[in-house]
Amino acid sequence: SPRIGVLALQGDFREHLAVLTALGADATSVRRPSDLESIDGLVIPGGESSVMDKLSRLFGLAEPLKAAIDGGLPVYGTCAGLIMLADTVLDSIDGQQSIGGFDVSVRRNAFGSQLDSFETDLDVPVLGDVPMHAVFIRAPVVESVGESVNVLASLADGRIVAVEQGHLLGTSFHPEITGDTRFHEYFLDKVRAHSN
Ligand code: GLN
Repeated sequence: SPRIGVLALQGDFREHLAVLTALGADATSVRRPSDLESIDGLVIPGGESSVMDKLSRLFGLAEPLKAAIDGGLPVYGTCAGLIMLADTVLDSIDGQQSIGGFDVSVRRNAFGSQLDSFETDLDVPVLGDVPMHAVFIRAPVVESVGESVNVLASLADGRIVAVEQGHLLGTSFHPEITGDTRFHEYFLDKVRAHSN
């Protein structure tokens, strides 16, 4: 079974560890650079991206993460995790940077105060005909995508909330908390395809 690291500096990493374990993956927390050495894929969870960014620098993880992503490590980012992966972050705070690799620009907290958090059913064609119930919590949106990026899901108003680029996968929302494991399965398929 594939060994999947979950970046465990901050945020809802426990939920991802639980889903991945339930799907039969060998899921493990990533807190230091050496934790990156033995994994086949990585999940970056939801949380607060500016804090995650600071902690990743403090723990010396930012550069090794960049190198791993450049080297083709499959990575799935949810919400703050997607922000961490984005090449461009709009409305960042506190000198926040990102690890990058994903040719997208994302806007933090894009839904404003009224729609701070909301739930909706999303069509995700790549996951089949059944819509996915999606939970957005102070979520980012993807404002633009590069040529090599596939859009996997958009809201009814056209705003992009799920993307893929080769070995990278990102969602603005949180499949790790709804019990719908299709995105995690999709990611595990990507990891298996990559390690074969
Ligand atoms: N608003 C958070 C950020 O900018 C993301 C929220 C989340 O991960 N649920 O990092």
